Amino acid sequence: MFKNAIHGFSTAWKGLSLTIRHLFASNAKRKITPISNDNYFKSLEGTNTIQYPKQQLPVPEVGRYQLEVEIDDCIVCDLCAKICPVDCIDIESIKATEAFGQTSDGSPKRIYAAKFDIDMAKCMYCGLCTIVCPTECIIMTNQYDRTVFELKDLTYGFSDMTPEDAAEKRALLDKQVAERQAAKLAAMNKKEGEA
Ligand code: SF4
Ligand code: SF4
Repeated sequence: MFKNAIHGFSTAWKGLSLTIRHLFASNAKRKITPISNDNYFKSLEGTNTIQYPKQQLPVPEVGRYQLEVEIDDCIVCDLCAKICPVDCIDIESIKATEAFGQTSDGSPKRIYAAKFDIDMAKCMYCGLCTIVCPTECIIMTNQYDRTVFELKDLTYGFSDMTPEDAAEKRALLDKQVAERQAAKLAAMNKKEGEA
């Protein structure tokens, strides 16, 4: 009984002294250290909270944060949308009547992106879209804080086409398709006439 009481007091004293030590240590501010620093987990002294957003912890270079699309380098191949496990990439493509430019890695551009939306509220940050992209134009940035008030504002649009541009390109494509079909029909009719 006496032994148990001693053990109880000793345990309580250990806990209390630890609390007191942390109480005084919490007056000191912890130095902001990147997680890549060898001493990151050794910096135990000081408060663990920081004065966000005035102070910010450095993020790891390979972290998965908000997606960004360099639309000038996108060839609208749709691979990112196809691989996305949660279907949060919504692309509406329009085939161009001819190649209209090149990406920075020299890939020819033949498809317009009338719509290129990513719903970051649905995204699970798996990074698969960035892996399959042939031109590496969809990337994960170190941006993690894009606070919004409306959920719909987490859908980011990356297309640089106006609805008028898109309508014009669709009309051009329809015209080209109709002309090609007419030419094909004329060629078939000619062949039949000659037979
Ligand atoms: S990171 Fe994953 S979930 Fe998010 S858009 Fe890319 S593929 Fe989809
Ligand atoms: S995979 Fe890359 S190039 Fe293809 S549509 Fe997506 S962002 Fe564009």
